[in-house]
Amino acid sequence: MRGSWIPALFLTVVLSPVDALARDRGADGRFETRSSSHFELHQDVDIDRSTGVHGSIAFEREVLRVLESGWDGLDDWLGLRPTRRLTVVVYDPAVFDATFAGLFPFPAAGFYAGIIRVRGDVAVTTALQRTLLHELVHAAWDAEAPSLVLPAWLNEGLAEWFEARATGRTRLTPVEWDGLARLASQGALPSLASLSGHNLAGFGPRTAGWAYLYSRGLVDHVARHHGERDIRRLCREIARTGDVERAFRKITRATPSEHDQAFRKELAGR
Ligand SMILES: [Zn+2]
Repeated sequence: MRGSWIPALFLTVVLSPVDALARDRGADGRFETRSSSHFELHQDVDIDRSTGVHGSIAFEREVLRVLESGWDGLDDWLGLRPTRRLTVVVYDPAVFDATFAGLFPFPAAGFYAGIIRVRGDVAVTTALQRTLLHELVHAAWDAEAPSLVLPAWLNEGLAEWFEARATGRTRLTPVEWDGLARLASQGALPSLASLSGHNLAGFGPRTAGWAYLYSRGLVDHVARHHGERDIRRLCREIARTGDVERAFRKITRATPSEHDQAFRKELAGR
Protein backbone atom coordinates (compact mmCIF):
# COMPACT_ATOMS: atom_id res chain seq x y z
CA MET A 1 0.00 0.00 0.00
CA ARG A 2 3.01 2.26 0.13
CA GLY A 3 2.74 3.71 -3.37
CA SER A 4 5.72 5.62 -4.66
CA TRP A 5 3.94 8.91 -4.05
CA ILE A 6 3.47 8.32 -0.32
CA PRO A 7 5.89 10.62 1.47
CA ALA A 8 8.89 9.25 3.27
CA LEU A 9 8.08 8.73 6.90
CA PHE A 10 9.60 10.69 9.70
CA LEU A 11 8.72 10.72 13.30
CA THR A 12 9.50 11.96 16.71
CA VAL A 13 10.18 9.27 19.23
CA VAL A 14 10.94 9.50 22.89
CA LEU A 15 14.43 8.14 23.11
CA SER A 16 17.05 8.91 25.68
CA PRO A 17 19.80 10.86 23.88
CA VAL A 18 22.35 9.18 26.16
CA ASP A 19 21.25 5.68 25.12
CA ALA A 20 21.29 6.64 21.49
CA LEU A 21 24.73 8.26 21.71
CA ALA A 22 26.09 5.16 23.35
CA ARG A 23 25.06 3.23 20.24
CA ASP A 24 26.62 5.65 17.79
CA ARG A 25 29.16 3.91 15.56
CA GLY A 26 30.57 5.61 12.49
CA ALA A 27 30.81 3.78 9.18
CA ASP A 28 34.56 3.97 9.71
CA GLY A 29 34.26 4.44 13.44
CA ARG A 30 34.54 8.23 13.42
CA PHE A 31 32.34 11.23 12.68
CA GLU A 32 33.46 14.30 10.76
CA THR A 33 32.37 17.50 12.55
CA ARG A 34 31.65 20.87 10.94
CA SER A 35 29.80 23.93 12.25
CA SER A 36 27.86 26.86 10.83
CA SER A 37 26.10 29.81 12.50
CA HIS A 38 23.24 27.77 13.98
CA PHE A 39 24.26 24.12 13.57
CA GLU A 40 26.87 21.58 14.57
CA LEU A 41 26.99 18.75 12.05
CA HIS A 42 28.43 15.28 12.62
CA GLN A 43 28.46 12.88 9.70
CA ASP A 44 29.86 9.43 9.01
CA VAL A 45 28.53 8.70 5.52
CA ASP A 46 30.93 6.41 3.70
CA ILE A 47 32.12 8.92 1.07
CA ASP A 48 35.33 7.86 -0.67
CA ARG A 49 37.08 11.19 -0.92
CA SER A 50 37.15 14.38 1.12
CA THR A 51 37.77 16.96 -1.65
CA GLY A 52 36.07 17.75 -4.98
CA VAL A 53 32.41 18.24 -5.88
CA HIS A 54 31.51 14.71 -4.74
CA GLY A 55 33.76 14.77 -1.68
CA SER A 56 32.75 14.75 1.97
CA ILE A 57 33.68 18.41 2.57
CA ALA A 58 31.35 19.58 -0.22
CA PHE A 59 28.65 17.23 1.16
CA GLU A 60 28.97 18.69 4.68
CA ARG A 61 28.86 22.26 3.36
CA GLU A 62 25.74 21.49 1.33
CA VAL A 63 23.99 19.88 4.34
CA LEU A 64 24.79 22.99 6.41
CA ARG A 65 23.57 25.26 3.60
CA VAL A 66 20.21 23.41 3.54
CA LEU A 67 19.96 23.64 7.33
CA GLU A 68 20.83 27.36 7.45
CA SER A 69 18.32 28.15 4.72
CA GLY A 70 15.77 26.07 6.68
CA TRP A 71 16.64 28.05 9.81
CA ASP A 72 15.77 31.29 7.99
CA GLY A 73 12.52 29.70 6.77
CA LEU A 74 11.53 28.68 10.30
CA ASP A 75 11.06 32.30 11.27
CA ASP A 76 9.47 33.26 7.95
CA TRP A 77 6.89 30.45 7.87
CA LEU A 78 6.44 29.33 11.48
CA GLY A 79 7.73 32.24 13.53
CA LEU A 80 10.13 29.91 15.35
CA ARG A 81 13.58 31.22 16.24
CA PRO A 82 15.68 28.66 18.12
CA THR A 83 18.38 30.53 20.02
CA ARG A 84 20.70 27.64 20.80
CA ARG A 85 22.90 25.87 18.27
CA LEU A 86 21.25 22.67 17.02
CA THR A 87 23.12 19.38 16.70
CA VAL A 88 22.56 17.27 13.60
CA VAL A 89 23.94 13.77 13.02
CA VAL A 90 23.90 12.38 9.48
CA TYR A 91 24.47 8.61 9.55
CA ASP A 92 25.70 6.26 6.95
CA PRO A 93 22.41 4.64 5.78
CA ALA A 94 23.50 1.10 6.70
CA VAL A 95 24.60 2.27 10.16
CA PHE A 96 21.33 4.17 10.66
CA ASP A 97 19.28 1.10 9.74
CA ALA A 98 21.35 -1.24 11.89
CA THR A 99 21.21 1.13 14.86
CA PHE A 100 17.67 2.50 14.79
CA ALA A 101 15.38 0.47 12.50
CA GLY A 102 14.12 -1.70 15.37
CA LEU A 103 12.88 1.38 17.25
CA PHE A 104 10.20 2.26 14.70
CA PRO A 105 7.06 0.47 13.54
CA PHE A 106 7.69 1.70 9.98
CA PRO A 107 10.71 2.77 7.88
CA ALA A 108 12.02 6.08 9.22
CA ALA A 109 14.32 8.51 7.45
CA GLY A 110 15.13 10.49 10.55
CA PHE A 111 13.98 11.44 14.02
CA TYR A 112 14.50 14.04 16.68
CA ALA A 113 15.27 13.22 20.31
CA GLY A 114 17.29 16.12 21.70
CA ILE A 115 19.39 16.11 18.54
CA ILE A 116 18.44 15.62 14.88
CA ARG A 117 19.41 12.21 13.48
CA VAL A 118 18.94 11.41 9.84
CA ARG A 119 19.62 8.52 7.50
CA GLY A 120 22.26 9.93 5.17
CA ASP A 121 23.12 9.51 1.54
CA VAL A 122 26.27 10.13 -0.49
CA ALA A 123 24.73 13.32 -1.90
CA VAL A 124 22.22 15.90 -0.68
CA THR A 125 19.21 14.46 -2.51
CA THR A 126 15.74 16.00 -2.40
CA ALA A 127 14.71 13.25 0.04
CA LEU A 128 17.61 14.03 2.39
CA GLN A 129 16.87 17.77 2.13
CA ARG A 130 13.22 17.13 3.06
CA THR A 131 14.18 14.95 6.01
CA LEU A 132 16.55 17.63 7.35
CA LEU A 133 13.87 20.34 7.05
CA HIS A 134 11.20 18.12 8.64
CA GLU A 135 13.31 17.25 11.68
CA LEU A 136 14.40 20.88 11.95
CA VAL A 137 10.80 21.81 12.80
CA HIS A 138 10.72 19.29 15.68
CA ALA A 139 14.05 20.63 16.97
CA ALA A 140 12.81 24.23 16.70
CA TRP A 141 9.68 23.50 18.77
CA ASP A 142 11.79 21.78 21.39
CA ALA A 143 14.16 24.77 21.56
CA GLU A 144 11.28 27.27 21.61
CA ALA A 145 8.93 25.48 24.05
CA PRO A 146 10.70 22.50 25.65
CA SER A 147 7.82 21.34 27.84
CA LEU A 148 5.12 21.72 25.19
CA VAL A 149 3.67 18.50 23.74
CA LEU A 150 1.77 19.23 20.53
CA PRO A 151 -0.88 16.81 19.26
CA ALA A 152 0.81 14.55 16.70
CA TRP A 153 -1.27 15.78 13.75
CA LEU A 154 -0.11 19.36 14.41
CA ASN A 155 3.49 18.44 15.20
CA GLU A 156 3.89 16.20 12.14
CA GLY A 157 1.53 18.26 9.99
CA LEU A 158 3.57 21.43 10.54
CA ALA A 159 6.84 19.56 9.90
CA GLU A 160 5.46 18.08 6.66
CA TRP A 161 3.88 21.38 5.62
CA PHE A 162 7.11 23.29 6.30
CA GLU A 163 9.37 20.92 4.39
CA ALA A 164 6.93 20.95 1.46
CA ARG A 165 6.64 24.75 1.57
CA ALA A 166 10.39 25.24 1.91
CA THR A 167 11.09 23.02 -1.10
CA GLY A 168 8.58 24.83 -3.31
CA ARG A 169 5.64 22.42 -3.04
CA THR A 170 2.85 24.71 -1.96
CA ARG A 171 -0.19 22.39 -2.06
CA LEU A 172 -1.09 18.72 -1.97
CA THR A 173 -0.63 17.21 -5.44
CA PRO A 174 -3.73 15.92 -7.32
CA VAL A 175 -2.54 12.36 -6.62
CA GLU A 176 -2.29 13.09 -2.88
CA TRP A 177 -5.74 14.72 -2.92
CA ASP A 178 -7.27 11.80 -4.76
CA GLY A 179 -5.69 9.32 -2.35
CA LEU A 180 -7.16 11.10 0.67
CA ALA A 181 -10.53 11.57 -1.09
CA ARG A 182 -10.64 7.83 -1.88
CA LEU A 183 -9.94 7.04 1.78
CA ALA A 184 -12.66 9.51 2.81
CA SER A 185 -15.18 7.80 0.50
CA GLN A 186 -14.30 4.45 2.13
CA GLY A 187 -14.69 5.93 5.62
CA ALA A 188 -11.06 4.96 6.18
CA LEU A 189 -9.45 8.31 7.06
CA PRO A 190 -7.71 8.26 10.45
CA SER A 191 -9.80 10.01 13.12
CA LEU A 192 -8.58 13.24 14.67
CA ALA A 193 -8.49 11.44 18.04
CA SER A 194 -6.15 8.77 16.65
CA LEU A 195 -3.87 11.57 15.36
CA SER A 196 -3.83 13.49 18.63
CA GLY A 197 -1.42 11.37 20.71
CA HIS A 198 2.24 12.30 21.31
CA ASN A 199 3.38 10.80 17.99
CA LEU A 200 2.18 8.67 15.09
CA ALA A 201 4.22 5.62 16.09
CA GLY A 202 0.97 3.75 16.83
CA PHE A 203 0.31 3.53 13.09
CA GLY A 204 1.68 0.53 11.24
CA PRO A 205 3.69 0.50 8.00
CA ARG A 206 0.50 0.34 5.89
CA THR A 207 -1.29 3.29 7.48
CA ALA A 208 1.44 5.66 8.71
CA GLY A 209 1.84 7.31 5.29
CA TRP A 210 -1.84 8.28 5.32
CA ALA A 211 -1.61 9.60 8.87
CA TYR A 212 1.31 11.89 7.91
CA LEU A 213 -0.39 12.96 4.69
CA TYR A 214 -3.72 13.72 6.38
CA SER A 215 -1.88 15.73 9.07
CA ARG A 216 -0.15 17.83 6.42
CA GLY A 217 -3.45 18.18 4.56
CA LEU A 218 -5.16 19.50 7.67
CA VAL A 219 -2.46 22.15 8.23
CA ASP A 220 -2.69 22.97 4.52
CA HIS A 221 -6.47 23.30 4.88
CA VAL A 222 -5.96 25.98 7.56
CA ALA A 223 -3.34 27.72 5.39
CA ARG A 224 -5.67 27.75 2.36
CA HIS A 225 -8.70 29.06 4.25
CA HIS A 226 -6.99 31.53 6.58
CA GLY A 227 -3.78 32.41 4.75
CA GLU A 228 -0.24 31.23 5.33
CA ARG A 229 0.44 34.15 7.65
CA ASP A 230 -2.06 32.65 10.09
CA ILE A 231 0.04 29.48 10.33
CA ARG A 232 2.88 31.69 11.56
CA ARG A 233 0.57 33.57 13.95
CA LEU A 234 -0.79 30.28 15.26
CA CYS A 235 2.69 28.92 15.96
CA ARG A 236 3.72 32.14 17.72
CA GLU A 237 0.58 32.06 19.87
CA ILE A 238 0.99 28.35 20.72
CA ALA A 239 4.67 28.85 21.59
CA ARG A 240 3.72 31.80 23.81
CA THR A 241 0.73 30.28 25.63
CA GLY A 242 1.09 26.50 25.21
CA ASP A 243 -2.68 26.34 24.62
CA VAL A 244 -3.41 24.83 21.19
CA GLU A 245 -7.23 25.00 21.36
CA ARG A 246 -7.30 28.61 22.47
CA ALA A 247 -4.68 29.67 19.93
CA PHE A 248 -6.79 28.13 17.13
CA ARG A 249 -9.93 29.89 18.33
CA LYS A 250 -8.14 33.22 18.68
CA ILE A 251 -6.27 33.17 15.35
CA THR A 252 -8.63 31.19 13.09
CA ARG A 253 -12.00 31.56 14.90
CA ALA A 254 -12.42 27.79 14.84
CA THR A 255 -11.24 24.80 16.89
CA PRO A 256 -8.96 22.07 15.47
CA SER A 257 -11.97 19.75 15.51
CA GLU A 258 -13.99 22.21 13.38
CA HIS A 259 -11.12 22.50 10.88
CA ASP A 260 -10.91 18.71 10.82
CA GLN A 261 -14.64 18.39 10.04
CA ALA A 262 -14.41 21.04 7.31
CA PHE A 263 -11.40 19.30 5.71
CA ARG A 264 -13.20 15.93 5.76
CA LYS A 265 -16.21 17.58 4.09
CA GLU A 266 -13.92 19.07 1.45
CA LEU A 267 -12.40 15.65 0.73
CA ALA A 268 -15.81 13.99 0.60
CA GLY A 269 -17.01 16.61 -1.90
CA ARG A 270 -14.43 15.75 -4.53
ZN1 LIG B 1 8.25 14.17 12.40
